Amino acid sequence: MGNVAFITGATRGIGRQIAITLAKNGFDIALNYRTENEDLLNTKKEIENENVKCFAVQGDVSNFESAENMVNKIIEEFGKIDVLVNNAGITKDMLLMRMKKEDFESVIDVNLVGTFNITKNVIPFMMKQRSGRIINISSVVGVSGNAGQTNYSASKAGIIGFTKSLAKEVGSRNILVNAVAPGFIETQMTDVLKDEVKEEIAKQIPLKRMGTTQDVANVVKFLASEDSSYITGQVINVDGGMLT
Ligand code: NAP
Repeated sequence: MGNVAFITGATRGIGRQIAITLAKNGFDIALNYRTENEDLLNTKKEIENENVKCFAVQGDVSNFESAENMVNKIIEEFGKIDVLVNNAGITKDMLLMRMKKEDFESVIDVNLVGTFNITKNVIPFMMKQRSGRIINISSVVGVSGNAGQTNYSASKAGIIGFTKSLAKEVGSRNILVNAVAPGFIETQMTDVLKDEVKEEIAKQIPLKRMGTTQDVANVVKFLASEDSSYITGQVINVDGGMLT
């Protein structure tokens, strides 16, 4: 049996690219999807083309029972989880003055509580096997803040604190916990921005372009590999130099 990677929110965007990249590197893939659609079928097909196993589990990361159920199903299927990538995330941008309580709570529930829910259910298995990699997808705005994103920035800053604390708790069991903080990456999440806004953002980035999902997936691949065996509790920015 090969190594197994579990990626949440993996049918499109960054999660999809991470799943495909890890599959290309020989990982069997457990992918979480929330909505059953064409994206799921396409991603599954692309992973299976790499001659690895792909097991899709439906569930909502913000719901603890759903998270528990997904992890149990993956363990039944593969017997282990070597790498967990907490990627599922949402935005509900609005200036605080106009932000509804529900929009603050739902972003925290998916991005931060979702990371807790999945990790809490995966960690006993990693503790038992005395190895594991947990890679949490944060964001540069979790470090820098961003007007209109108090909810999102708080959730992503929370993920950084969670990552550093957990790294200290489980290091002695050879479980490495790191975060990746992408800058502006071309996905459906950023598609909502007008072209003029995207161009303006790109001008502010030292590398003068938005990132690709592959730029992020390459760093996750490194953190999932033996090449990063002495790195834990870190936040790696993948942002073209935005935060320096
Ligand atoms: P995306 O294209 O919007 O994809 C998000 C994925 O998360 C979708 O597959 C979505 O599933 C899933 N998801 C959302 N809520 C979920 C829930 N409650 N349970 C399970 N799955 C859920 O976003 P993306 O740009 O690839 O972002 C991926 C991660 O990178 C997020 O954590 C995001 O915050 C972070 N990030 C993105 C950027 C960027 O510029 N794009 C920058 C920094 C950080 P559905 O299809 O069912 O909605």
